[in-house]
Amino acid sequence: MKAVQYREIGAAPEVVTLPDPEPGPGQVLLKVAAAGVCHSDIAVMSWPAEGFPYRLPLTLGHEGAGTVAAIGSGVTGLAEGDLVAVYGPQGCGRCAKCAQGKENYCLRAAELGIFPPGLGAPGSMAEYQLISDARFLVPLDGLDPVTSVPLTDAGLTPYHAIKRSLPKLVPGSTAVVIGAGGLGHVAIQLLRALTPSRVIALDVADEKLALARTVGAHETVLSDDRAADRVRELTGGLGAEAVFDFVGAQPTVTIAGALAAVEADVSIVGIGGGALPVGINTTAFDVAVAAPYWGSRGELGEVLALARGGAVEVHVETFGIDEAPLAYERLHAGKISGRAVVLP
Ligand code: NAD
Ligand code: ZN
Ligand code: ZN
Repeated sequence: MKAVQYREIGAAPEVVTLPDPEPGPGQVLLKVAAAGVCHSDIAVMSWPAEGFPYRLPLTLGHEGAGTVAAIGSGVTGLAEGDLVAVYGPQGCGRCAKCAQGKENYCLRAAELGIFPPGLGAPGSMAEYQLISDARFLVPLDGLDPVTSVPLTDAGLTPYHAIKRSLPKLVPGSTAVVIGAGGLGHVAIQLLRALTPSRVIALDVADEKLALARTVGAHETVLSDDRAADRVRELTGGLGAEAVFDFVGAQPTVTIAGALAAVEADVSIVGIGGGALPVGINTTAFDVAVAAPYWGSRGELGEVLALARGGAVEVHVETFGIDEAPLAYERLHAGKISGRAVVLP
């Protein structure tokens, strides 16, 4: 089978040929129909050799969807031909967090050497993928794998962050989305579907601001050093009750802190390395800052249900498997509108 692998620190990903995998006991073989291209992969491929956490070569792709192609012995509740999405942030299944479906916060994954597909374990950017447990496969139930595969991360991650702030997003409130890319353009739609808040989107690129308006942002603001003042002007000086930063670099977390209202939630989702100090004279009173990671199995079901109801529509640009390296190049250059999806 063909697979897209990161093989050498600092080098571009490559399309290679590997033996077709076969499911062992308890495993499921997925014929991958679609794999999303996330900016986190670009971050991974920029990390230095020293302290690099995964073994190479690594088959990329932590957003996957496709058809059950074969079932290992002992697997029940699934049939060949079922259309499914992959739950990525896989945990041990037994610790206190996993017991609540919060496998993204598994307490034992590191100790047991459990890695998400595409982020340590072989990922979805291949013709076939082995799934270690049937509980990681969620029925698509009528959703198209190509347009819904980004919901497994670009949908689930903002959903998890937004859910935490729902009590603050009452009528008359404002939510700010920083970075209207893969995650951000879904976040805007989730905020519109789940809250009565006014949604203001920030980005550095005009095309991204245009996409933000298309998917439901009420206002858009260029993300420069005047952005926080602009948001304060738009909110009568109060600022935003919730800020979701899908960049997470120092300039954006600084903006996030500066436009956060009294008692606001700031969620730093992007892994750009920025930090936001909280203090009596640094941020507004009672601002709470969180750095959420991905989402729970239950939340993935909720996101897919929202999409089935038509509340969320991911904008995708598709690439053949041989064009996957180009998809990464274009994402790196800021040239993808919405989410790039590779069709293996
Ligand atoms: P993307 O490239 O699709 O989108 C990023 C967007 O941010 C682009 O539209 C870009 O123009 C915009 N941007 C860049 N610099 C900006 C600035 N200074 N101000 C405002 N906007 C700016 O990336 P993505 O795949 O949506 O990922 C977004 C971030 O979230 C990445 O850092 C990724 O690694 C991270 N991520 C985190 C989690 C998590 O669980 N915490 C999960 C998935 C992705
Ligand atoms: Zn991701
Ligand atoms: Zn666990």
